[in-house]
Amino acid sequence: MTADDRAALAVAARDDLVGRLDALLGDRLRLEQKRPRDGAGWVDVSAHDLALVCPSRWSVPFDDFVVTAATAAGAIGRVALRERRDGEPVGVAVDRVLTSVDDLDRDAAWFADWYEQELDRAGRAAVRAAATTWATGALAAVAGRPLSWATRRQLVDVPERTIRLRANWDASDGVSRPDVLVVMSARAPSDPALGLLAGFNALADGLLRRQVPARVRVGSPATASTVAFPVTADLLARAVERVVELVRWRAEPDAAPTSPGRWCRDCHLLDVCPDAGASVG
Ligand code: SF4
Repeated sequence: MTADDRAALAVAARDDLVGRLDALLGDRLRLEQKRPRDGAGWVDVSAHDLALVCPSRWSVPFDDFVVTAATAAGAIGRVALRERRDGEPVGVAVDRVLTSVDDLDRDAAWFADWYEQELDRAGRAAVRAAATTWATGALAAVAGRPLSWATRRQLVDVPERTIRLRANWDASDGVSRPDVLVVMSARAPSDPALGLLAGFNALADGLLRRQVPARVRVGSPATASTVAFPVTADLLARAVERVVELVRWRAEPDAAPTSPGRWCRDCHLLDVCPDAGASVG
């Protein structure tokens, strides 16, 4: 696929997204002023939202992110892989990064205060171990290839809308308009959700750089392998469709169906949701 083909795919996907959102929203969620610092009033769609299990839960925004060894491992691992010297063992790079965490820029090292001020010695050891495991698996998944590891998440605003896409690719082949994006996932290589994840990242990259990557590789640190998804019009169309569906549930919460299950136990709507009862017991 030529660069012109990839640029044409990016334009077509953007037009598809914008057109579908126009049809759904009309003047709702129209961009009229700068995004506030806290993002209030905006709809943020992250890669993690694509496979959500309960639309009703998602329809009411709630920040349930908690910093733990597991949630910080990837961020630390990416910084360590970016900073790693030739031939340096991954664990040594992780130790070096965490020892000099104050020297890192805070956008990349958002975990620094938590790591330095809130953890005891055992907690820090657990974080180092989790980050080393993540980075070792990620490097094995890409067969040790030299890549540009992303230490910041990529945020892309939909034109003229108060809608932000939060992509989550972990690495690229390092050029200004990458041929390949790499996304690490804990899902099994056969999981059908991986295609959606690949398409979403390609869509966001296309909006950002006006040219989609040629392919997205979704890697599994657990199996040290990647699955390649060529970026096609169909892959992008499925991602657009999912984004529009998620936005609709946020814009029209009454249209969002409930899907009760074991996840109800930690849902912020548990006390008000009429369908939670049976699954919580
Ligand atoms: S309590 Fe359960 S069914 Fe109800 S919104 Fe939350 S996750 Fe969905």
